[in-house]
Amino acid sequence: MATPVYSFLYPATDTRFFVIHNSYFELPETMPMDLTTFVLYHIESGRSFEGLFFCYSDIVNNGCSLFNTTYEEFTSEFVRKYHLDTINDFNLLEVAVRNKTHSDRLNSILINKDSIQSFYNAIDQIDFEINPEESYVSLHATWEWLDSVILGTNSELVQNKCPKCEFTSYLREKVHRMVTFQEEVYAHFIESHGMPLELMPFVYRKNSFYIARCKEEKLDFLLYF
Ligand SMILES: [Zn+2]
Repeated sequence: MATPVYSFLYPATDTRFFVIHNSYFELPETMPMDLTTFVLYHIESGRSFEGLFFCYSDIVNNGCSLFNTTYEEFTSEFVRKYHLDTINDFNLLEVAVRNKTHSDRLNSILINKDSIQSFYNAIDQIDFEINPEESYVSLHATWEWLDSVILGTNSELVQNKCPKCEFTSYLREKVHRMVTFQEEVYAHFIESHGMPLELMPFVYRKNSFYIARCKEEKLDFLLYF
């Protein structure tokens, strides 16, 4: 399973966001993160820093860890808009500004290819932790769950003929991977089939049903960053 990384500047700022992509469903595996959050996410999720050290200049200069590929070439318009909406909905720009001192230091170490020790020293100076790993998962995780539980031809739910899910399954080819279902369809997955709350696409997290469920299950961190 390949997980390239890409990055982009938020329009009209010098704030860079990083995203891990998953090539299985060709969807973003994470939400956009400022560099500090991104580095802490590596630790939280047990992801190795090797790729980041090796490809950092490509990730920043070209916008993608894949050789000779730019951010625009690598992502669809849908995904680029999804990222900007997510940043706006979750005030991620504010988070990035709050983390700027740490991000600048980490950036300088990675660009200059300073020692790994200085990189870890910079991490040691970060005096906060990020939310649990689940807070940052994005469309890939949602589609992985849907594929195994709802949409897959052998999935239990399709065979049990839930009318709403059968309908959804029929839509699969049309919506493919780049379009999300309607809000109420996701609410159905949560209510009737136990879809984990962290798999709700970010654009629908302002839904009052969703907010109530997160509060009920003490998962408020899925709502605010
Ligand atoms: Zn159903």
